[in-house]
Amino acid sequence: MREICLCSLTNIRSGSCKGDCKFCTQSIYWGAKIERYRWKPISQIVEEAERAWEVGASGFCLVTSGIELDPHSLPRLQKMIESLKKRIPQLKLIGCFGIAEKRELEELKKAGLSAYNHNLESSPSFYPRLVTTHRWEERFKTAQLVKEVGLELFSGGIFGVGEDKRDWKEMIKALKKLDPEVIPLNFFIPNPALPLERTHSKEMALEVISLFREAFPQSVIMLAGGRELVFGDKWVEGIKAGADGIIIGNYLTTGGDAPHKDWKVIRQYGIRVKNARS
Ligand code: SF4
Repeated sequence: MREICLCSLTNIRSGSCKGDCKFCTQSIYWGAKIERYRWKPISQIVEEAERAWEVGASGFCLVTSGIELDPHSLPRLQKMIESLKKRIPQLKLIGCFGIAEKRELEELKKAGLSAYNHNLESSPSFYPRLVTTHRWEERFKTAQLVKEVGLELFSGGIFGVGEDKRDWKEMIKALKKLDPEVIPLNFFIPNPALPLERTHSKEMALEVISLFREAFPQSVIMLAGGRELVFGDKWVEGIKAGADGIIIGNYLTTGGDAPHKDWKVIRQYGIRVKNARS
């Protein structure tokens, strides 16, 4: 089995997003019952980063709700990144702030950001059935800019939202042009407020993982949202199918398994972890 890396994330601004992504509880369109807040205090984010580091995460992703990076929030994000970098210099910081301009990405990099997460979500032809407030092409453009400024690119998508195998192949074709360092695979987490039914199963998830592993032998294939829903504590099946990364801890608006449960699986199967510290 491959060595895996662990990544953790924090939602630093939650909900009230003007996007209409049908899979997302943070959209104002669906009225999902989630915790909403404007900005999480930096002190809390630093504490969360310390906890992530303690449980073995080598990457920490800062996420804001919203279609695009609001230029007014740039100084706040820069300050946040600088504080985190000062506290835990070895922790890789990943930003996920939506559609962004080149200058903004350069500023974030200067502050200490190592990578930017910007998922294509789905194929260009299926995307308009999931989202109408912004275009797939705009997302693709930002992903290109991420590479251009020399940040690592995390870019993957969401599965089990009604797409089919042709969409996976189309998405792979698009991602090939971007050559992401990390490809997060999210499996849709249903919510009664969302206008989508889950169309994934464990077999389907395993097929997606194998397909992406085969297409991207050099990238990290990360099991992201929905891992617990698909695999329960048998996520090692996903690793055997070719994944080599997991999100540890909670997701944006839903809880994940407690890190000690994941570590139990890691030890049980003798999985090697990149930069393990516990
Ligand atoms: S996925 Fe992002 S852009 Fe879409 S509704 Fe959720 S927070 Fe907004």
